[in-house]
Amino acid sequence: MGNNFKKFTEEELAVFIARLGQKPYRARQIINWIYKKLASSFDEMTDLPLEFREELDKTAFISNLKLLQEQISSDGTRKFLFQLEDSKSIESVLIPNTRRKNKFTLCLSSQAGCALGCVFCVTGKLGLIRNLKAYEIVDQVIAVSRIISNPSITNIVFMGMGEPLNNFNEVLEALSRITKLMGFSIKRITVSTAGIIPGIYKLAEKAPDVNLAISLNAATDETRSRIMPVNKKYPLKELLKACKEFPLAPRKYITFEYVLLNGINDLKDDAMRLVKLLRGIRSKVNLIPYNPAPVKEIPELYRQPSGDKILEFQNILRKAGITAIIRKSMGADISAACGQLKASYSIKNEQ
Ligand code: SAH
Ligand code: SF4
Repeated sequence: MGNNFKKFTEEELAVFIARLGQKPYRARQIINWIYKKLASSFDEMTDLPLEFREELDKTAFISNLKLLQEQISSDGTRKFLFQLEDSKSIESVLIPNTRRKNKFTLCLSSQAGCALGCVFCVTGKLGLIRNLKAYEIVDQVIAVSRIISNPSITNIVFMGMGEPLNNFNEVLEALSRITKLMGFSIKRITVSTAGIIPGIYKLAEKAPDVNLAISLNAATDETRSRIMPVNKKYPLKELLKACKEFPLAPRKYITFEYVLLNGINDLKDDAMRLVKLLRGIRSKVNLIPYNPAPVKEIPELYRQPSGDKILEFQNILRKAGITAIIRKSMGADISAACGQLKASYSIKNEQ
């Protein structure tokens, strides 16, 4: 046992390998085995000398997430429950691309639980359990890639459990590994935030090419603060200012997620206010009809608006020239849809 290679940065691994008296290219080989060929043991690294592999076995290991449970939805969405080394658990969701066969979007967790307590979100009910380490974020990509083998992950979104910008450094390191070591394009990765303004500025500085999504969910401070307490600290005006200042390459846009809650944020006026708010920002709006929560802690007060109301809301945005898409909720029947993740296995087993 000993050192978990996945905890090492590329530089740390190079130092470790050099200390064993090996040439630098050996470190590169090992990195490729772990992050490109998804090896989980030194045994598999057949281009390393046998003696070296045996030495590695004595001093190091390669950790893996333990798959506790997998659920498959009728629409093909797959939800994976993974156990971390300290027995906490997290969920990752694999969503099939509706237009391209065998292509998937992988939805990653950045924290176990979440501190922000948005009233409609199941993860928010857990509170923050803990931040994930970079390797635990990357391991979700590795573990799911190993499970699905052939079909390919074309997009990665940080829209699972947790607020990525509240775990900034680890998310940044994970982005670096997923792109540099695994070879995934940063242009196909989206970080979604409930609006942690300093985090948005930092992201603009450290990872300007990543796609930014904002969970907006309301068009007035009053409503937003009611359903997303984080708005009291980071209100709309400043949030939208940060969005305006986020660097956008040509043809890029910021995605605004808007969970439609019947009677709360779905009025015509809300749509018109939203149009005003987004003026001057290259934006795309994802309208997400509220997914009724499978937990008793969320009151039945929250409902999905009727289909007509959703279309009306969409039309107001469209007429104002804003791209607005009604997001079909994938995986709702297995509680894998937006906002439904709660790592229920661990909850049941820890209580
Ligand atoms: N914490 C980050 C990343 C998680 S993304 C963020 O909030 O952006 C989770 C997404 O699911 C958010 O856009 C959130 O608004 C949405 N969501 C949460 N609960 C939901 C529910 N019950 N129905 C529909 N969408 C929900
Ligand atoms: Fe946290 Fe995002 Fe859920 Fe809000 S919507 S509680 S920020 S995970």
